[in-house]
Amino acid sequence: ATPMSIMTATGRGAQAGVLIKNAEALERFEKVDTLIVDKTGTLTMGKPRLVAVLPEPGHDETEVLRLAATLEKGSEHPLAEAIVAGAEERGVALSDATDFEAVTGKGVKGMVDGRPVALGNLKLVTDLGLDAADLTAKADARRDQGETVMFVVLDGEVAGLVSVADPVKETTPAALQALHDLGFRIIMATGDNERTARAVAERLGIDEIRADVLPEDKARIIRELQEQGARVAMAGDGVNDAPALAQADVGIAMGTGADVAIESAGFTLVKGNLDGIVRARRLARATMRNIR
Ligand code: ADP
Ligand code: MG
Repeated sequence: ATPMSIMTATGRGAQAGVLIKNAEALERFEKVDTLIVDKTGTLTMGKPRLVAVLPEPGHDETEVLRLAATLEKGSEHPLAEAIVAGAEERGVALSDATDFEAVTGKGVKGMVDGRPVALGNLKLVTDLGLDAADLTAKADARRDQGETVMFVVLDGEVAGLVSVADPVKETTPAALQALHDLGFRIIMATGDNERTARAVAERLGIDEIRADVLPEDKARIIRELQEQGARVAMAGDGVNDAPALAQADVGIAMGTGADVAIESAGFTLVKGNLDGIVRARRLARATMRNIR
């Protein structure tokens, strides 16, 4: 591509809220046929709210929330913020955790008031050697609403569930429709549970999902698609998404997301919504047409 046509595209992109890192990103994007989208913070607002605390028999609702929120004070994950904010809104007084540890893609662990507490997904519960099979129906009922369910473990037993809801961004449905119309194969990838992922995907007309993925899996999924001949763009916002953004033919970061995601990406969507991808595709087409 000529420097002039690239400059024009870069300028138009910037006006439309799409920051284009370099000519290669624009050239490669014209050939992309497969779009991987992260769920949390990309399709959804990434601002989850606590919607339910479900104690197990013999446990108290406020106490389950207090333990969960005390532990989550140490985490910067959006789920953690939702739990801490939920506790504050309900006037629950928190204490301080010790031995805090974040388990990437799974949850958090630590000691609260001298007792071992853990909070996270089923993988975390399984890693602790526990069985949460009895809780499946209760958890699934929430997941079917698109909620993310976390298990609270106290003294080596599940003390309850906490559930958060993260609304879909207002702009997401129309942007996805336009991206489908442009002919992209669209795959949603998420560290979240399969059932939650399916509920969200169904509402958005996305028919391919990769759920329960650990952060390192996202880059591997992209590599496998590339090996099958796909040209892949990945849209994501999180610190965890950076390796996948780098692996993709074109990484697309949400401008509202983590700095490291933006650094790893070829495009940045300033407003943090997927409309920018539709614009970027049109720009890439127009630019490449002009120079051929
Ligand atoms: P995503 O791909 O949806 O952005 P992550 O890899 O960040 O997901 O997290 C995957 C899952 O791990 C979450 O859905 C949650 O169940 C669990 N998890 C991660 N961090 C935390 C945390 N701080 N507290 C509770 N659960 C967590
Ligand atoms: Mg995310």
